[in-house]
Amino acid sequence: MQLYNLKHPDQVVSFKEASIKGLGKDRGLFFPTHIPQLDQIDELLQLDFLTRCERVVSAWIGDEFEPVIIRQMVERAFVFDAPLVKVKDGLHSLELFHGPTLAFKDFGARFMAQVLSRIASENIADGTPDDPNKSTNKMTILTATSGDTGAAVADAFYQIDNIDVVVLYPDGKISEAQKRLFTTLGDNISAVAIKSDFDACQRLVKLAFEDADINDELGLNSANSINISRLLAQICYYFEAVAQFVQQQGPGFVLSNETAPVISVPSGNFGNLTAGLFAKAMGLPIKHFIAATNSNDTVPRYLNGQNWQVNPTVATMSNAMDVSDPSNWPRVEAIFEKMGWSLDQLKGISINEAQTQAALLALTEHGYMAEPHAAVAFDAIRQLVGDSENAIFLATAHPAKFKEVVESVLKTPVKMPEKLRLAMELESHFEHCEDDFPALKSLLLKH
Ligand SMILES: *Cc1c(COP(=O)(O)O)cnc(C)c1O
Repeated sequence: MQLYNLKHPDQVVSFKEASIKGLGKDRGLFFPTHIPQLDQIDELLQLDFLTRCERVVSAWIGDEFEPVIIRQMVERAFVFDAPLVKVKDGLHSLELFHGPTLAFKDFGARFMAQVLSRIASENIADGTPDDPNKSTNKMTILTATSGDTGAAVADAFYQIDNIDVVVLYPDGKISEAQKRLFTTLGDNISAVAIKSDFDACQRLVKLAFEDADINDELGLNSANSINISRLLAQICYYFEAVAQFVQQQGPGFVLSNETAPVISVPSGNFGNLTAGLFAKAMGLPIKHFIAATNSNDTVPRYLNGQNWQVNPTVATMSNAMDVSDPSNWPRVEAIFEKMGWSLDQLKGISINEAQTQAALLALTEHGYMAEPHAAVAFDAIRQLVGDSENAIFLATAHPAKFKEVVESVLKTPVKMPEKLRLAMELESHFEHCEDDFPALKSLLLKH
């Protein structure tokens, strides 16, 4: 797989390089030079989940990894299901929250962990570290989290050879459940509580990446949401959604672009939607997509004819989507351009807080408990999809992850999944650090 930098098209890299680098020159995003086409979609949709994932992933990176390695990475990454649950006739929820940290970010993070550990082990076998200027073959994932990403990344890399993870989080500003999920692991995972906010954590991470001592010593990798390996993993579950949809329609159903479901994606940084568009570009029938956002509505405003204008980010119940300048957007536009599709085919809608609460309640009338992110995607369907059409919304987090909000809106207790209950009983381990780069630097180099 070859990728080019959307800002500097002459920078062309392999998938492995793009996964290690994350971003290209001038912080440009990597984009595939070629989107592979899958034929015999009907046959593909009849395979089992892991075999289907293997086919999808191989179409992209089969030139860089042996088939047995791809199979192994897929088996180790996707250790949980993505069930398509019928909410009512014509409406389904694709539940992406059955992984270890109860949010869809587990798919991307776990696959990225497989890719990076594979690359790290190949470098060791190659003897690359003989280069005296490259002091180690160690790789350190340094990441800032406002809650969910840190947990997904930490869990995904837990006990993976040759890779350490350091998570920076704003002290006192994330929920206890979120914190427990990455501070109770130990081993190759460490956490640093920064006495400031999330923006400060992000700033510190950026400074660390610009620091030569830290880079040499630790082999930094950001593992953030623009990493191409995460997107590859996310393409897989769109195939899963359509496969289960077809099975549920029963015999006699003929899948085409017309009978295929509309998919509504609750969006923040737009990685999830980018992956969906890649799936459609590969040949998967999907009628069209809906980009559903909360009150951070830069994209819906733009799709509805206004200029691209980034307003200050506002805090909402669906806080993982509190993003006003989505970093994956250039990839979305690049796909439309490459495929010759019109952006008119992408529907955008912003759902406010009152609508989100009403949507959560409306879902319980169908016997379905969701959380605010899924509710935003569901409400978009209520507003934009006709009764005769089939639609799927992506349920990106488990209701227990947003227990407080869900309980206050629905006035019913949310059951804690076992994994979260156990983490709540373990002891947290973390270090404290001021919002001060020299202090963080000496802490990191001590590692
Ligand atoms: C990250 C996240 C989103 C937004 O996904 P993007 O790929 O950033 O658009 C939606 N829901 C949940 C629960 C998330 O954690």
